[in-house]
Amino acid sequence: MADETNRVLVAGAGPVGLVATVALLARGIPVTLLEASPELPIDLRASTFHPPTLDFLATLDLAAPLIERGLKCPIWQFRDRKAGVIADFDLGLLADETDHPYRLQCEQWKLTEHARERVEAHPDGIFLRDFEVTEVAQDGDHVTVTGTRPDGSIEQVRGRYLIGADGARSVVRKQLPVNFEGMTIPEIFLSMSTPFRYDKAMEGLANIAYITDPTEWLVLLRTPTLWRVLLPTDPNQSDEQILDPATIEARLQQVLPQPQPYEIEHKTAYRVHERVADKYVHGRIFLAGDAAHLNNPLGGMGMNGGIHDAMNLTDKLAQVWQGADPDLMGRYERQRRKVAIETVQAQALRNRTVLNETDPAKRAAYHDELRKTVADPVAHKAYVMKSSMLQSLRDLDAVK
Ligand SMILES: Cc1cc2nc3c(=O)[nH]c(=O)nc-3n(C[C@H](O)[C@H](O)[C@H](O)COP(=O)(O)OP(=O)(O)OC[C@H]3O[C@@H](n4cnc5c(N)ncnc54)[C@H](O)[C@@H]3O)c2cc1C
Repeated sequence: MADETNRVLVAGAGPVGLVATVALLARGIPVTLLEASPELPIDLRASTFHPPTLDFLATLDLAAPLIERGLKCPIWQFRDRKAGVIADFDLGLLADETDHPYRLQCEQWKLTEHARERVEAHPDGIFLRDFEVTEVAQDGDHVTVTGTRPDGSIEQVRGRYLIGADGARSVVRKQLPVNFEGMTIPEIFLSMSTPFRYDKAMEGLANIAYITDPTEWLVLLRTPTLWRVLLPTDPNQSDEQILDPATIEARLQQVLPQPQPYEIEHKTAYRVHERVADKYVHGRIFLAGDAAHLNNPLGGMGMNGGIHDAMNLTDKLAQVWQGADPDLMGRYERQRRKVAIETVQAQALRNRTVLNETDPAKRAAYHDELRKTVADPVAHKAYVMKSSMLQSLRDLDAVK
């Protein structure tokens, strides 16, 4: 009889847990995926896929269905709220470096939807919904995960390894001796989605625009059906005040006055953290994605970095599964923690600092620097190598 515990357990069916599951199944490794919710959410969270993420997803046959349902954006833009375009960054310069020289604007739930179908269709994939992980334990050979079911019953599953991809409030992480140090960003991020066509109303607007201003920066992001407006918000206000329809209308009218009121299809206000776990690998248990690191969304690197974790982790775990020295997993931690700290967190914090800058001289100097960067093809390419996260992956070979 087959050994039922000869599998990898994955906690959390977000983009990271699902990609890890599909990647392991593709390598012939049986997986049980444990998800607390009854259904995967169809909501507006991350909406940008960077070029190397699409390259990774293509190896799992998950890129094509997203590209079909997304918006290819070769250009992203840095603007000033009053002066307009400062610099257009062209991902077309990466044509020799990636099969996907553009950012794909596509909601993350479309990825989880396709990946979930793949897991459910696979003979070695078990997807347990309504299973809320509450405890994890390990011995020399196995990991045991305890979970509760909606009726209050308690169930245990066993496997050889566990990937904790259970998001920002990860129970797996909390069950381990991990420090999750960092900070909470003072401002709240307010995200509103509207069918209003900003691209038709604002001169030269790219589909992804970071817009600086000394009193209120903003981000405009186009998804296949809506435009998202992201605004920093006073944390002393309650959620009711922040999300009050009249306040939202007033704020959108300030961004761009219009005779008609703005139609809002989705709105959310959220606190943002900058934290990186001090350890990703604990014997047979590994952390990935938001469970391991959190950062602000400026630059769209949270979900992308998590998917890169999933690919790196499963590549090494597959080798260990086939007999490689388990110490190999330490390299996963060294490589991906370095990216989380030196690329994702550093870049996201820098983006926030730049957008928040109020000093006129510093603003002018930074804008000049960006104009010079895009005017010089070598500097321009180096910049988009970094912003697209390709450089962070190229640099991994040097991390032993
Ligand atoms: C409101 C909002 C807006 C965002 N906007 C952006 C954005 O614009 N750009 C960007 O780059 N990123 C954004 N993010 C962040 C991005 O969504 C995350 O980086 C990404 O979802 C991380 O994927 P993940 O798989 O690691 O975690 P998650 O997507 O959080 O998935 C974790 C999964 O684990 C499940 N789970 C949790 N606890 C348990 C448990 N105990 N047992 C079993 N299952 C469990 C959850 O139900 C969930 O399905 C946003 C996040 C939020 C909340």
